Amino acid sequence: DVVLSLKGITKRYNKGLPGEVQVLRGVDLQLSSGEMVALVAPSGAGKSTLLHIAGLLDQPDEGAVEIGGEDLSGRSDRRRTVARRRDVGFVYQFHHLLPEFNALENVVLPQLANGVAGNEAEKRAMELLGRVGVAERATHRPAALSGGEQQRVAFCRALANKPRVLLADEPTGNLDPGTSDQVFGALMELVRGTGLAALIATHNMELAARMDRVLRLQDGVLVDA
Ligand code: ADP
Ligand code: ADP
Repeated sequence: DVVLSLKGITKRYNKGLPGEVQVLRGVDLQLSSGEMVALVAPSGAGKSTLLHIAGLLDQPDEGAVEIGGEDLSGRSDRRRTVARRRDVGFVYQFHHLLPEFNALENVVLPQLANGVAGNEAEKRAMELLGRVGVAERATHRPAALSGGEQQRVAFCRALANKPRVLLADEPTGNLDPGTSDQVFGALMELVRGTGLAALIATHNMELAARMDRVLRLQDGVLVDA
């Protein structure tokens, strides 16, 4: 059951200028429901570019991005935004939680924006927070949480609207090694409970080895690592 499919993705920056650089040279990827795949790449290899294209934030020059069997490359921005909000969850190195809202509200708000009723949204948010061990921190604002807790909340927010695909860019890259291990474990648990397809960029080979597959982005293509 392929959820995310990338076919022949190419991307250049600074086209026609002296600084022209071809970052992606024909990326193929098939991610199945329930699969967790690590993406490893040296800095500058094009990892963020690839994640943004896979998450419909950026357009490739060539190739197809299919989510749930629908080719979304070349569709209107509006259509792609709708698909992104419904089907894609993002996690970054920094949590990007809203500072004025508490942990619970940060997980509730994206659901309200998607038309979920308040009591439903709150129930789901508490359930997610509980699964990553921060339910008792629900009424704290991000600034009152530790770095590991902030990332756990960010994972819950990313999954709040039950996306089909999770894209993570160094989700534990900001944390010290011990915390990183625990928080990464929490993310894996959360994903395992869902059937979500996850592509997780990391520099940490030990964490990468805990996933189903490891892919390396090298010279603009993905190879098995
Ligand atoms: P990574 O995430 O692996 O570090 P990126 O996808 O951010 O790599 O960048 C890959 C290459 O593309 C780098 O050489 C970077 O300088 C270049 N690049 C990224 N974004 C742009 C942009 N908007 N304009 C021009 N060059 C870019
Ligand atoms: P909203 O307007 O409801 O925040 P968007 O369609 O703008 O929804 O964003 C959907 C998802 O894409 C969110 O998870 C958001 O964090 C992410 N996102 C949106 N724009 C960017 C961007 N420029 N860079 C990185 N992530 C983004």
